[in-house]
Amino acid sequence: MRHRKRQLQRLAKGRLVKVSADHPIALYTQRLCKQHRIRCPHLWAAENAYVVAFVVAPPIRKSHLVLSAGVLQLPSDILRWVIAHEVGHLVHGDARHVFAWQRFLDSVLAWQRLRLKVVKWLVRLCYWIPLVGHPLCRLLVGFERLFQNLDKAGRQLGGAAYEALTLWASRRSEFRADAFAASQEGAEPGIALFRSLAAASTFEPLQRPICLRTHPTHHERVKALKRFNS
Ligand SMILES: [Zn+2]
Repeated sequence: MRHRKRQLQRLAKGRLVKVSADHPIALYTQRLCKQHRIRCPHLWAAENAYVVAFVVAPPIRKSHLVLSAGVLQLPSDILRWVIAHEVGHLVHGDARHVFAWQRFLDSVLAWQRLRLKVVKWLVRLCYWIPLVGHPLCRLLVGFERLFQNLDKAGRQLGGAAYEALTLWASRRSEFRADAFAASQEGAEPGIALFRSLAAASTFEPLQRPICLRTHPTHHERVKALKRFNS
């Protein structure tokens, strides 16, 4: 738990304080989670003046919902909308998919290390075999090199495709969580939020091309929410 808290603090860029279970926003979160039959997350307030809110969902343990001081100061209807957006991510399992992918990539790397160990051990063994030992060593090393090069090329290619795919999925999941929040609290608080964020423009990653963004622009989100309204 302490490790997780440190990780959350790094992500939130501020110290975390637990929100008590009888606080109005905790009660609202509990009600929403119960309504959608998901486990209520741990609720944290972060000392950060910017508008930051996110969920982290490990596979078995309870999820965490972090809201910055900047979010907690928002008008109550917008604050509820932000919470509903984050609960929307939990309902759709977005945060869990990210977690699963990271674990999968970790396990691929673990296999790599194991293979390398086995090859090293075999080479050492071959070294002691008379006559055929040396050519066998060279053959093994050659195969290992070939495998490594193929693996490297595959990972570079797969990595780029994987990144493009996750970023696209991330933008899609943002729209989906916005739609969820709008279905709970209406589209207006969301529209007001993204308009004010766009006006402050402290967060908008405008310079990045669309394929490199994790989030849609505020303008795109307002447009989608307006469609939700009509
Ligand atoms: Zn989101």
